Amino acid sequence: MNSFLEELEKHDIKALAGSASAFSTANVKAALSSSHVGLREFLCLLSPAASDMLETLAQRARSITLSRFGRVIQLYSPLYLSNYCLNNCLYCGFRKDNPMERKILPPDAIVKEARFLFDQGFRSILLVAGDDPETCGLEYLREAISSIHEFLPSVSLEIGPQSQENYIELRKAGAEGVVIYQETYNRELYKRLHPEGKKRDYAWRLETPERVALAGFHRVGIGALLGLGNPMEEAVALFLHTSFMLKRHWKTRLTISFPRMRQASGSIKPLNPVDDRAFARIICAFRIAFPDVGIVLSTREEPRLRDGAVRLGVTHLSAGSRTEPGGYLDPDQRKEQFHVEDGRSPAEVVEMLVSNGYDPVWKDWEAVLV
Ligand code: SF4
Repeated sequence: MNSFLEELEKHDIKALAGSASAFSTANVKAALSSSHVGLREFLCLLSPAASDMLETLAQRARSITLSRFGRVIQLYSPLYLSNYCLNNCLYCGFRKDNPMERKILPPDAIVKEARFLFDQGFRSILLVAGDDPETCGLEYLREAISSIHEFLPSVSLEIGPQSQENYIELRKAGAEGVVIYQETYNRELYKRLHPEGKKRDYAWRLETPERVALAGFHRVGIGALLGLGNPMEEAVALFLHTSFMLKRHWKTRLTISFPRMRQASGSIKPLNPVDDRAFARIICAFRIAFPDVGIVLSTREEPRLRDGAVRLGVTHLSAGSRTEPGGYLDPDQRKEQFHVEDGRSPAEVVEMLVSNGYDPVWKDWEAVLV
């Protein structure tokens, strides 16, 4: 059985992305009326010809989202466990060489932070940690998951890639989802941005969603960090990755995300900034191509854009987020991974959703014994 790495290597991503410039407005209209959006149609939706048809794309994306998901938005919150990291990703404030104060939450503090989020209404929590198996290893993670899973039904992980055996252990401890972004699918750029640490291994990271699915997780989230590579090329590679996961690992629910890079302390500036119109077009193109896939948007984005994105195709929102360990009960911006742009409280985000006719949902499934 071939892996996504082998699948990706069959394609010339740069040439595919470049070919989009040949499409006309008529090609875009044909792609919009097509019953199946394959790679060719997807390229049409992201082509320069489509950039003047953003309103048409938005209407199509909105009507697909309403018919597949209704007016329901899932709410979740990140809970940062640790900012220790052995990697040196040039775009991240947690990177090893950034002289920031390091902190890892002890077990009682994890429960207190989780209780705080529970009291605000959250039932879906994303545990986030830098990649340092020495301080934040399998036992620590298992204990963190099981201690909060007692009262939080949905616990997901955004941590360094694990072996399939470790993922099985983490699932047994109560985790139901894993988020793992490739950052950039461009192999050369990936090597430059990750000068040391385990994360230098492009293939190990790229094949992580497959290990997650094989370990029996309920859901996996994939994505690219926009601002690093050429956005068109990243979108094409993510399209291929999404298609592969849906076909090969259909038992695992898939979400996709397009976090836009924010400059953090000690990190580089975005190499290929993505403006709001291009960002909206990417969201619309993915919604039209993948009607049933959840699309996640975090508080990296400012309120105006998040409110608009809900009407385009986003189905999962974080709210009231802190990006430093212990940040809910003991905020300290000096320990943040990046600064959030949407500083509204969960109650304010709920109010925005309700006033726009949406139903905020804190929990969308329950594990049952059969
Ligand atoms: S992106 Fe992740 S792995 Fe890289 S430095 Fe930041 S926390 Fe560590």
